Amino acid sequence: SLLPALREMSGRTDSPEAVRFDGHSLTYDELSGAAAAVAHRIAGRGRVAVWATPTPRTVVAVVAALLAGVPAVPLNPRTGGRELAHILADSTPSAVLAGADDVLPGAFDGVERLDVNPSVRARATGFAEPAGDAPALVVYTSGTTGPPKGAVLPRRAVAASLDALEDAWGWTAEDVLVHALPLFHVHGLVLGILGPLRRGGSVRHLGRFSPEGVAAELLSGGTMLFGVPTMYHRLAGALDGPDPGRLAEALAGARLLVSGSAALPVHDHERIAAATGRRVVERYGMTETLMNTGVRADGAPRAGTVGPPLAGVELRLVEEDGTVLRDPESIGEIQVRGPNLFSGYLNRPDATAAAFTEDGFFRTGDMATIDPDGYVRIVGRKATDLIKSGGYKIGAGEIENALLEHPGVREAAVTGEPDPDLGERIVAWVVPDDPASPPGEAELAEHVAGLLAPHKRPRVVRLLDVLPRNELGKIMKRSLGV
Ligand code: ATP
Ligand code: MG
Repeated sequence: SLLPALREMSGRTDSPEAVRFDGHSLTYDELSGAAAAVAHRIAGRGRVAVWATPTPRTVVAVVAALLAGVPAVPLNPRTGGRELAHILADSTPSAVLAGADDVLPGAFDGVERLDVNPSVRARATGFAEPAGDAPALVVYTSGTTGPPKGAVLPRRAVAASLDALEDAWGWTAEDVLVHALPLFHVHGLVLGILGPLRRGGSVRHLGRFSPEGVAAELLSGGTMLFGVPTMYHRLAGALDGPDPGRLAEALAGARLLVSGSAALPVHDHERIAAATGRRVVERYGMTETLMNTGVRADGAPRAGTVGPPLAGVELRLVEEDGTVLRDPESIGEIQVRGPNLFSGYLNRPDATAAAFTEDGFFRTGDMATIDPDGYVRIVGRKATDLIKSGGYKIGAGEIENALLEHPGVREAAVTGEPDPDLGERIVAWVVPDDPASPPGEAELAEHVAGLLAPHKRPRVVRLLDVLPRNELGKIMKRSLGV
């Protein structure tokens, strides 16, 4: 069963809290009853779209779909018209599940709407557990490198990945997860909602992230925090601020601080460690593969690494011609195989075929090295973060980390652009700490050369007010001309 805890913990008068959003909470019993009411309405249908606002309704809708065995397609309520139209045309939902007060854009014309009301309940009987290879969810990728693709996630993959995280993190029914992520990607939905519901723990969703909210929840029972690097950046900033005491106490007291979805800058990792004595644990995953690696709760977190492969995951690095790297300390593309993998992209047999090797490994498109103790170090994406300059293969990530160590740099992104002499030249996009006196080009080049190596110094520095980021805080390098 995908959510055994839901079955075990419902139907009890003392049913524990499952989810809480800004004061609105549902016990396991209430969630199960509300989901059953919706499940009876959608049973036997094709895929349903879920208008995934950060509310209990979204949890009810997704759990209902899982109960009914109908694949759910979580949608970002802030998606623009063109992208939404693309996703709806691609996923052809039989209905959209939303709240009665949600205003749905015109792209939904012609799609049946079913309103979800968590106070309408039914008995969760009469639903057979679908087979493991039945699709649980169709989740669209973040669209960082191209238009989003719908990844079909079988129930077995969701279960396997959550069990691997249970193994790595000692995740139990006692855990209370503090959550402020959106619910339309794997991180916020699969890990952040289905994770606790599989284990029997509970979730407190902040609605909107704030360092104060995180501190309050961690100090009143929260045991774990799941976040993206931009959140840890803000926490690091608040720890440097005028009144860091309560937040430092809260973070130091958490059982686990987890970051994922993008690389956590070394600078922020170290600032948090210095202020709290706690090291953030990184895990690495993708929509298509769910979770691949993660630092264990009893492991040795260190800045810049995402830990070893999780239980059941085979991971290797390959060279451009497909040969497996024997020296893992040189850069190669990560390929993974295991029970955590998706079954394919919706309507994209070509892209699905291209994504797998003959022996069933998934080509992640992410480049990495592996430390001697097996911890994976992600260098960046093959498409946007690997710069070939002067005969060297250079990862954008380490240059970004070096730039962030400069006191005049608030945010940094590194790209390559064509250069007649070097093949590609390194370009640093910098948000200065003080726009009135930004650090100069020569100064930044010297700073990077001093920390890393002369061939890794940026040749061009371009100043920006903000970096283009998506809702998970990922830097959209496509918008920087890559
Ligand atoms: P698209 O596939 O549409 O271009 P995307 O790859 O950003 O978008 P996701 O599936 O949401 O969509 O993100 C997976 C990617 O996020 C990984 O391939 C990797 O590049 C990055 N990522 C996830 N976790 C980490 C991490 N801990 N450190 C570095 N990168 C990470
Ligand atoms: Mg991707």
